[in-house]
Amino acid sequence: MNWYFFGAALVVYSIIAVGLFALLGNCEHCGSLVFAFCHDEEVNEARRKAYKVCRICKNKTAVEAINDVGKGVWFKDDGGDKKI
Ligand SMILES: [Zn+2]
Repeated sequence: MNWYFFGAALVVYSIIAVGLFALLGNCEHCGSLVFAFCHDEEVNEARRKAYKVCRICKNKTAVEAINDVGKGVWFKDDGGDKKI
């Protein structure tokens, strides 16, 4: 086993993973890649929803449905199934 190669592969894989995370989690409104890492969270008790709020364009993305216990199950809202 070449540990230098292993370490380099690990670093490259990490960079790709972070890049993919940013690309998949970008703001659907303004496309900000920072949105995946840096956003505000807001809970709407009446609609039993939690939102990620973009700090750049203030667009809200529904990310969580709140159950009866008050804890939510996180899911990825790909924009195809919005129940707001
Ligand atoms: Zn945005």
